Amino acid sequence: MKMKAVRFHGQKDIRLEEVEEPECGRGQIKIKPAFCGICGTDLHEYLGGANLIPKDTPHPITNETLPLALGHEFSGTVEEVGDEVQGFKAGDRVCVQPTIYDGECLSCRRGLVNCCDKNGFVGLSGWGGGMSEHIVLPQDSVKKLPDNISLEVGALVEPLAVAWHALSISPYKPGDRVLVLGGGPIGLAVVQVLKARGCDTIIVSEISPRRRQYAKEFGAHHVIDPTKDDVVAEVTKLTHGEGVEIAFDAAGVQVGVDSAMLAIKARGTLVNIAVWEKRATLNINQLVFRERAYIGTACYELGDFELVIDAISTGKLTPEAMITRKIRLDEVEEKGFNALINDKDNHVKILVDIGASISQ
Ligand SMILES: [Zn+2]
Repeated sequence: MKMKAVRFHGQKDIRLEEVEEPECGRGQIKIKPAFCGICGTDLHEYLGGANLIPKDTPHPITNETLPLALGHEFSGTVEEVGDEVQGFKAGDRVCVQPTIYDGECLSCRRGLVNCCDKNGFVGLSGWGGGMSEHIVLPQDSVKKLPDNISLEVGALVEPLAVAWHALSISPYKPGDRVLVLGGGPIGLAVVQVLKARGCDTIIVSEISPRRRQYAKEFGAHHVIDPTKDDVVAEVTKLTHGEGVEIAFDAAGVQVGVDSAMLAIKARGTLVNIAVWEKRATLNINQLVFRERAYIGTACYELGDFELVIDAISTGKLTPEAMITRKIRLDEVEEKGFNALINDKDNHVKILVDIGASISQ
C-alpha cells in the first residue's frame, strides 16, 4: 500500500511523494495524522540543512538517512493498535511526543530522555513524520487528547511543551518578573505558559510590530522594540529599578543575550531555549559579580505533554489563536515554508491539514 508524505531531500528540496505505508507492529500504534505544525527547526533544515536530519551517517537509533518524512508537531486519530498495546483503541484522538531516545545512556537512565546521547525526533530523524497520511510509533510516544481539545489545538501541544519545560526547569515562582526575548512561536508559547502559571509582569522584546501585537494578545504586559528602545533601561524602569528575576531567550542572538544579562537582577537567571546558529559570547563577569545563572533547556521531558494537555483541557492555556493558517499537504512548500520565511511577521503557526483533499 502506498501513501502520501512530505519528505526532506536536502536544502530547499522537499517533495510530496508516494511512499510505502508503514505497518503496525507489537507495542506500536498506527495513527492517521490530522494536523501538523511547521516549526522553526523545519525551516532551518529547509534553508540551511541538512543539520539535524541525518544526511550521510544514519541516525544511531532509527538507522535512517534522508529522504525523511517531515513533521514533529502533530495530532491525529488512532487507526490500529499493535499487540501488547494497552489503553488505546481505534478512533482515539491523540498527539505525539516526538522524542526519540535510546533508554540506555546515562541521561536516559536518570530519566532525562531529552538529553539522550543519541536523541532524535520523529519527523527529523526517522520513523516517519506528521506530514504523511499514516505513521506508526511506539505506544510511549502517543498521548491521548481529552474530548474538549480539538485536533487543531492538539498539534500545538508540542511547542507549548517546549515553553512549559523551560519554565519548569527555571527557578520561576509566582511573583517573579520575566523578560522574554523574541516573539516567535516559542516566545509566544512562553508568554502563554507564564500567564497560565500566574506571572503578572511579562515583558517581551521583539523587533516585529505584528509580533509585539501578538505578544500582547497572548498576555504580555509590556512590549519593547529593541531597535528603538534601550532594553535594559526599559526593563529597569518597568521593574522599579530592580531588574527582572528571570529572562527566557527564545531569539538566540548576541545582542539579546547582552542586554538580557544586564536586565536581570542579582541572582537572577537567563534561560536559553533558542538553538543557536553560531557560537555566542557571554561576559562571565556579569554572571560572577551579580551571582546570575545561565541555563540551557532542551525540548521537554517525560510528563510535560500530560501537563500541557491538562492545562489546555482545564482552560489555563487557550492557544487557538496561534494558528494563523491551515494548508494542504501539496501546499507545504509554497504556502507553508515560504510563507514562514517571507511573511513570518504575519504568521505564528501554520498547520498542515493532512485530511484536506488535494486538488489534482
Ligand atoms: Zn539515551
